[in-house]
Amino acid sequence: MAEKGRFAPSPSGRMHLGNLFSCLLAWLDARAAGGTVLLRIEDLDRGRCREEHARQAAEDLRWLGLDWDEGYEAGGGEGPYLQSRRTELYEAAFQRLREAGLVYPCWCSRSQRLAASAPHLGEHRDKGACPCRAFTEEERGLHASQRPPAWKAAVPHRSVAFTDLFQGPQSFDLAEDCGDFVVRRSDGIFGYQLAVTVDDALMGVTRVVRGRDLLDSAARQIWLMESLGFPPPRYGHVPLLLSADGRRLSKRDRDLDVGLLRAEKRPEEVVGWLGTMAGLCPPGTACTASELLPAFRTHELPRTDIYVPRMGGYEEMMP
Ligand code: GLU
Repeated sequence: MAEKGRFAPSPSGRMHLGNLFSCLLAWLDARAAGGTVLLRIEDLDRGRCREEHARQAAEDLRWLGLDWDEGYEAGGGEGPYLQSRRTELYEAAFQRLREAGLVYPCWCSRSQRLAASAPHLGEHRDKGACPCRAFTEEERGLHASQRPPAWKAAVPHRSVAFTDLFQGPQSFDLAEDCGDFVVRRSDGIFGYQLAVTVDDALMGVTRVVRGRDLLDSAARQIWLMESLGFPPPRYGHVPLLLSADGRRLSKRDRDLDVGLLRAEKRPEEVVGWLGTMAGLCPPGTACTASELLPAFRTHELPRTDIYVPRMGGYEEMMP
């Protein structure tokens, strides 16, 4: 089967160095496997996402020298490539889960707010079953007459094992490590886990490469894939980039964004800098992404998170 990787940015702000790092590695992984790449925009969280950020993300990836064969601004394949335009597909998958008795209505107010975005490290999400899972039909009817429910996946007590492309063998107990999670919020917005699973399956993605903080999401997504009758892709979780004080770089903290980088550096310098962090080239290298391919094929990536090393002028560029 033809291999296919993907970039899946959320347009909630300008991308930062950590986003570029994950995208570069996703591109290297797909190209090293002789595969294609697609670009999908994950804009379910309407409150935070803007299409101008999506256009900017595409432009920033192009500036770095990363290309894609299908997707946002490229067309082809199984679009549309903006999640906000794929509601009908999520609805169909949700109905299948509902018919299979794998989701239940939930009226708890916690846990819903962030369900449309990926659960990055350090974000506290509700874990586990809530009282609503055990409600009788009568109790459900009573609550439903007051306000619309969110819907949660009822995960079984079962382990999901897979071999991560970069982190090696993994095993998660769905109930203990992941817990029931929101697949549809009470306002009708579909959750990140369901949307990403449906998209990766329908778009024919075979290699999902992204930040290590989404490692346990892979267990949820594999379970959803199996429940919906799709073959799961391979997953590869790359180290996170950390600031000098040990924080994961994030858009919310306004960490070094690509706009600042572009004002000061050439794309080859940034690719070389990222390549050094991944152990693919010596410090001070300036190169294209393609020039990192031979090293990517033969070297193992570090498994632990990486402090961003100094590149000339880096400190001055921190906002
Ligand atoms: N859209 C998510 C993010 O930008 C990535 C989700 C994924 O790769 O599965 O954080």
